[in-house]
This record gives sequence, structure tokens and C-alpha cells, in this order.
Amino acid sequence: MSDGARHFLIFSLAFAGSACAQQATREPPPSDEPDPAPRLVLPDESRFKASPADGGGWATIEPSVVDVSSRVTMRCTYTVGEAGIAVGGGVRLSISKFWGWAPPQTSDATATGYTTVTCSKAGVELEVRDLPRDGFVFAVVKGPEALSPGDRLTFIYGDTGGGRNPQAAGFSDRYAERGERFFIKVDGDGDGFFTPLAKQAVFEVRATQARHLIVFAPSQALVGEAFEVTIAAVDRAFNLVESYRSEDLHLVATGGADVDAPARATIRPDDRGAVRIPVTVRAPGIIRLRVEDGSGEGVAGGVSNPVLVETGGKRTFHLAWGDLQIHTNASDGSGSAEDVYRYARDVARLDVAAVTDHDHWGYQPLDDDAPVWKAQLDLNRRLYRPGRFVTFPGYEWTNWTHGHRHVLFSREEEAVIFSVADAGSDHPLELWERLGERDCVTISHHCGGGPIPTFWKYWNARYEPVVEMASVHGVSEMLGHPRCIYSPVEFGMAQAALARGHRLGLIGSGDTHDGHPGLGSPGQRAGLAGIWTKALTREAVLEALRARRVYATTGCRGILRFFMPSPDGVPGGRSAAMGSVVALSGHNPVRRFTVSVVADAAPVRSITIVKNNDPVVTFACGGFVESVDWVDDAPGRHGDYYYARVVQEDGEWMWSSPIWVEMPERSGGPSGAALEGGSAPDR
Ligand SMILES: [Zn+2]
Ligand SMILES: [Zn+2]
Repeated sequence: MSDGARHFLIFSLAFAGSACAQQATREPPPSDEPDPAPRLVLPDESRFKASPADGGGWATIEPSVVDVSSRVTMRCTYTVGEAGIAVGGGVRLSISKFWGWAPPQTSDATATGYTTVTCSKAGVELEVRDLPRDGFVFAVVKGPEALSPGDRLTFIYGDTGGGRNPQAAGFSDRYAERGERFFIKVDGDGDGFFTPLAKQAVFEVRATQARHLIVFAPSQALVGEAFEVTIAAVDRAFNLVESYRSEDLHLVATGGADVDAPARATIRPDDRGAVRIPVTVRAPGIIRLRVEDGSGEGVAGGVSNPVLVETGGKRTFHLAWGDLQIHTNASDGSGSAEDVYRYARDVARLDVAAVTDHDHWGYQPLDDDAPVWKAQLDLNRRLYRPGRFVTFPGYEWTNWTHGHRHVLFSREEEAVIFSVADAGSDHPLELWERLGERDCVTISHHCGGGPIPTFWKYWNARYEPVVEMASVHGVSEMLGHPRCIYSPVEFGMAQAALARGHRLGLIGSGDTHDGHPGLGSPGQRAGLAGIWTKALTREAVLEALRARRVYATTGCRGILRFFMPSPDGVPGGRSAAMGSVVALSGHNPVRRFTVSVVADAAPVRSITIVKNNDPVVTFACGGFVESVDWVDDAPGRHGDYYYARVVQEDGEWMWSSPIWVEMPERSGGPSGAALEGGSAPDR
């Protein structure tokens, strides 16, 4: 950090962002482009009619707790409900196919995951079948008798025959979670249509062995003002280890910065694996905090993200970190919504988080589960702490034709699931129409490729200010990016949307399904949103999104600013932040841009300014703190847009939101006026 002081002043004074955003509603030009063909046609469930016998009964499962990634034998007992199960009907047990559970199989009593099913009633023959690819085991009643209320089917996953075949044990998943289940569906009348039990039996998958300390700090602090550093113990898959305790944590600032912090910290049993430690820094600069476990238990220490420590009073903009797209075990993810939010807040130290489960996808569709949706709304309300932690109620509109969009609401009272399974809201235009006057945003994600790209013919400036272009799925900036999303297509990329004239800010988020928002898993980093917000409230964060005062990262927490200093040509005048739309005057007006970066875990390799999707200039760097200026002296065109692309030496990326310029012949406004996004000095 020897170069820290050199660029520090430039960095700390340079950022300027928006005054109140004047959000124009700008519809895309009419187009006769045909709509795409669906990539996936969901089964038409209306053909089936659940009989009263479907989904009847209840289940228990033992043991109630298993360790992550361990050999297990699980006994799941299903008791038949009031309506019985007819001959030809049956029960389907499914084990998640995603997180490392060994698939259940019913054919080889000496191989992993051997699963048996027995019936408590004499005179009932079962046909037991498996579908390991989907994690399914079926037990179908062959007769001659039907199953009566109170009869039991016992599924044993990992049946070792009482220990005779230890290799037949199952294998548990690598992600810790409460509320794990072997999901049971019942076809009571034998029409082939299975309905889930009203209440599934759940158990816990528990992390046991801490391997790393994860350390985060806020990206900004003031000299002399205490802030909190979070320390959490995680295992090798980044699960929080709630049983971890240490009396001997040592916290120091790297580079010998002058900080006031407890010499030793502890994690006690009540802390459930994560603590916050107050720290005060006595001089301006850029610091990182290192925490080591002195107990000799073999837990690797951790280093925080950089903290920019400044002197002086009030800041206009705070850098908040957000993951605006998180899945839980309410759809197809791992972990309960409550645990996932705790992880976001206390392990990954996010300021902003949104659980967005699928409307109609996963084991139990959210659009068909009012109690779970209500519980999520209540949880969002309860965990939202203005000034400390911002939650957004929301869901993912999982459209397999036009692409996925998640919807975030500012108020629980307005949050409604307009589902893709409803013919009245299965098109983006219908979704936006249904959202109506609600205070909400929609965000397209994994837009440039798998699992499905976004078809950018449809876009709505009012609802959709930003695009999530980095996530666990990869990067959707453009074809050929070194971390490009899988199954990439050019038409879906963020650059394709910008080229159509869609004024989108750029963010990253997780789309994590592993229960680790803000962090991801080893080898699978998730994206993050850097949000320059005026306050840590839902309203302010939405304002920052709508002003596009945001940037995308592949998971690193570098501090990025991109702006036009004094676009009106007045020295020391107001600058225009990332996301702004700037009106310029005169013949070929000067367009000057500044990029300032504090890198996270590795130095900045390069900074590129991208103009209208072309990389017009690249600066080779090498320091942790870098600042570059560039003037575009090529002839300007109305609607030109510029953004900054930064890559660190460790292959982590950051992208600012674009700045758009409007040229004199079209804008008509005063020179340098920010039409959207606005501008205001930082202090
Ligand atoms: Zn999606
Ligand atoms: Zn998703």
C-alpha cells in the first residue's frame, strides 16, 4: 500500500453523484422483431386434478441432525393419511440433486445410497423404482390391497443392512442448513399426479469443522469514529460453523496503521460462529484488518476488504454492498431464509440483501405456498434495520421465454407474486403492467446466457434501472469475456441492451443457491453490487439503483468511482457520477472522465474505458490504488455512453455503470446539466 498516499486525496475528493434523480420513462422503440421461442415448456399441470387423497399423510425423519459431507443412514417414515392410497397410487421421495447428496438408488445393496422401502401392512406389494438422476425413489402400491389410513412406508436411505454393507451408506450434502428435507409427494388415487405433503419432515445439516476466519469491514470510515469488523468461522465449503469458539483472536491493521481495537477478541458459544468487533482508526488512509486465531486449532486467519478512512464530517454517499438475488430452500436453494439473511449480514457483512425465491420453480413453488411467502414477508420486515441492514421482499419471475427477472418491493404490503404460471403475467409487458404503481424494481439476471438469456426487445425504464451482469453463472457483459457466462448469446449481453439504447446501470449479485450470499463457495464466487447510496434505507437504496449510482463486481470489494469532473467546464464545478446522463454544449465538447479504484485483495492490473461498447483506452496499472483521467476528443454523438472496466491481478473484475452524454443539437438544455442521475459535490 505504498502507493496509498499518492492517490488517496484524488480518490477521496473526486467522487460525486446525483441529486434527486429525474427518472424519465423511456420505452424502447417499436419493433417488429419476433418474440423468441420458449427455451423450456413447463408441464401443463392443469391437466391434472389433485384428488383429496393426493398429498395426504405426514412424515418423520431420523436422525434430526447430520454433519455436512458425511456418510449417513436416514430413516424416513411416511404415515398414510385419512383418504388412504389406492392401488396404482404411491409415494415419491426426492433427495436434492444439487449439493452433493449421493443419489438414492434401489438396485445395488452394496453401493452408495442404497435405499429400501418397506410397508407396515401385510398384503400390500410395492413396486420400488428409482430415478437417481433426479434423486427420486418411487414406492407404488401394486395391490392386491390398498393402503389404509395409518399404514406406514419406511424409506431407508443408505441402508447398510444393519451395518453389513457400510459402503451402502448415503452421503450428505456439503452445505449446512436447517430445514433440509427429503421431499415427499403423494399420489393417493393413482392418476400419476403427485402432490407434496402439507408439511414436510425436516432435519439439519450441520457444519462442524472451522477452517477459515472470514473478515469484513465497511468500505469507508471516518478518523476517530468506531466501526465494526465482522469475524466469522467457516468450514471448507464456507458454511458458518456455529459451534466454533475461540478465546484468542488477534486483530491487527495491515501496514502498521494506527488503530484502536481490542488486543484479543473472543467468539463465545452464544455468538453462533460470528462476532462484530469495534475498531477506531486514528489517521486517514487505506487499511485492511487481519484476524488470526491464536488457539492453535488450525483455523486460517483472514484479511478484510480495504477500508478508506477519511477525515472530516458528513459524507454524501456511502458505499453499501448488496446481494439482490438470493435463493433459499423455499425454492431450489439451500438454507432457510432466516439463516441466509443472517449469513448475509453477519458472515458476508452485506448492507443490503434480498431473498428472491422462484415464483414457479423448485420443489414447492412459492406462488403456490402462501404460508411460506407470508413468512418471508414477515422476516423481511423483522430484519430490516434502517441504518444497519436493508432487506427487500421479492421473488424471481422465472420466465423461460424472455429471461428471468427478480422483483424487489420497498414495502411488504405491496409485495405480490405475479407469477409466470399465470397467463396474465407471463410476458414482461404484463408483469410491468401488473406491478403498476407499486414502489418496486425488476432486474434481469444471467442475461447473456445460461440458464436462459434475456430478450432485450422488452425493457421498461420505469421499473428496470439496472442489470445483474455478474453472478455465480458468470459474466454477461459481452461475448468472449474471460469469465463469460455459460451458453453465451450475443443478443442477451448487457452490451446488447446498452446498444439498443436501454439506459441500464450495471450490478453484480449472487444468484447463490448455496446459502452463502455475498461470498459464494470456494471456486464459485458470486457477484456483488456496489451501491453509492445516501443512506442505508430501502428508499435510499432504490434511489441509488434508479440513479444507476451502482457498480458490478465478480465478488471482490474494491472501491470504484467513475465520473466526469466538471462536465460544464467550470473548474471545481459539479461532477457527474456513474449512471448520469449529461447534456453537453458547444461544438465537440470536452468529455473528460476519471476512474478511481482501491483494489481489494490484489493490485489493479488494468483500467479500461469502454465507449459505446468499444474499449477505447486501457491503462496498465499495478498498484492497489489507482486513478486515471482520459479525455475523449473524437467527435461526439448524441447518446454516446462510457463505462469503466477494471480487472485486478487475481482475475476479479469491476464495472461502473455507464455515463451517457447528450449532444447540443438534441439536448437543448444548459451545458453540463445532468438530465438524469444528476450531480452534486461530495461534500
Ligand atoms: Zn434466474
Ligand atoms: Zn435466481
